[in-house]
Amino acid sequence: MTERRVRVRFAPSPTGPLHIGGVRTALYNYLFARQHGGDFIFRIEDTDSNRFVPGAEEYIIESFQWLGLAFDEGVGVGGDHGPYRQSERRDIYKKYVQQLLENGKAYMAFDTPEELEAKRAEIANFQYDATTRMQMRNSLSLPKEEVDALLASGHQYVVRFLIEPGVEVHVHDIIRGEVVINSSVLDDKVLYKSADELPTYHLANIVDDHLMEVSHVIRGEEWLPSAPLHVLLYRAFGWEDTMPTFAHLPLLLKPEGNGKLSKRDGDRLGFPVFPLEWHDPKTGDISSGYREKDYLPEAVINFLALLGWNPGNDQEKMTLDEMVQLFDLSRCSKAGARFDYKKLVWFNHEYILSKDDADIAALFEPMLRERGIEEPMERIIKVVSLMKGRVNFVHELWDTCCYFFQAPEAYDEKSLKKWWKEPAVASTYVRELCDFIEHSPVFAGAELEPLVMEWIAAKEWPVGKVMNAFRVTLVGAAVGPHIFELTDYIGKEETLHRARRALEVLPEA
Ligand code: GLU
Repeated sequence: MTERRVRVRFAPSPTGPLHIGGVRTALYNYLFARQHGGDFIFRIEDTDSNRFVPGAEEYIIESFQWLGLAFDEGVGVGGDHGPYRQSERRDIYKKYVQQLLENGKAYMAFDTPEELEAKRAEIANFQYDATTRMQMRNSLSLPKEEVDALLASGHQYVVRFLIEPGVEVHVHDIIRGEVVINSSVLDDKVLYKSADELPTYHLANIVDDHLMEVSHVIRGEEWLPSAPLHVLLYRAFGWEDTMPTFAHLPLLLKPEGNGKLSKRDGDRLGFPVFPLEWHDPKTGDISSGYREKDYLPEAVINFLALLGWNPGNDQEKMTLDEMVQLFDLSRCSKAGARFDYKKLVWFNHEYILSKDDADIAALFEPMLRERGIEEPMERIIKVVSLMKGRVNFVHELWDTCCYFFQAPEAYDEKSLKKWWKEPAVASTYVRELCDFIEHSPVFAGAELEPLVMEWIAAKEWPVGKVMNAFRVTLVGAAVGPHIFELTDYIGKEETLHRARRALEVLPEA
């Protein structure tokens, strides 16, 4: 038998912003597809019109653009198996619902919500299944004439899947092994509703996976309970031979304590659970996103890749290409993966370090412009190259480096206490150093530094005290890069200007 082409899909429902767990699911599908030279399909599952949220689809698309994960086929991309939005596939589903009805695999049920409610009140743990369906109003229990009359009068109905009890259903799951359940625990799921002429998630999902020739279904653990039903649907259609292989990914757990990761954990501990900021169209609430919180998409991807999988060694930092090489679905864990957001901060730092200075500078530039700093790009790149090792986020560069771009407006108390403790002495150091630098034949740090050191030594002054007093006048605090890197950057005039201005405003005695 020839190997089947690998085709996987990411199939979100546009019911709100894409949760970070969904991003992990998409990433694993992407890695698996790339690794096998297969196709990665993007399908929108929007058959539940009650849960449709405007803007959600656009949000999902924009998220993947930002993350740099490209689909081969699907909404916004096109392909041979479209349309890829389920709301545009109504006629297709109708045909398959009809097929199930004709083959006796499904039936029509006319029970009203009130009738169902009454049944639930009457029978504890009521389930619409082999034990109860003949007490209900459906095409199996009612005489044919009555069914025809109901249909002729336009009575609404749903189509239910006829589950045969007592059958062992086997689900082959790459991560969980063979999952076996008895069909008696399943209910006769609603597959279609005449009211809106739309299938439910289960039917649309199976029909589309079949028609789109999906080979592997990789999705979150929350869908595991639906898998036996999906297997039975494949069988009911006679599609056993093309049944996809399943892989249900582990749950994402709270950073601490028990339970699954929720938006509240993010709010409480200060990290987003969505890729992009989300503005709820109904409530107006804003939920923070990784992009707006200044995380690099590479860091988010790398972090997510390791939530439920590892390459089998200690390697943590990986490019997307390396992940494609190393990824192994069968090495994914069953156990939930703890969402250690501090690790993500660490990844962000690592990616700031490894990315080109010019790329980081491009992200930093708008933050400078916002503050009215008109520094040319080459100079921003220079600052980034000197200072990026000190930050976890690009926006932190401002606080860490603002003195490259502007003279200090205030002087840090603690630094003054330490290095300006004896103002007369400190002022003398700085005043004389300024005179020395002003008259020095050279200014470039590499040449100036040894001269300054010699001069301090000749005066028998303490180097640390002199240089730190000088630093405080240039930076406003006892922090920053190597001092001669800073003077190189701001130039002779600005250096002398800053130091002499400090002599005017700082206490002298
Ligand atoms: N529409 C489902 C979701 O929102 C898809 C589940 C699946 O992948 O089968 O996650």
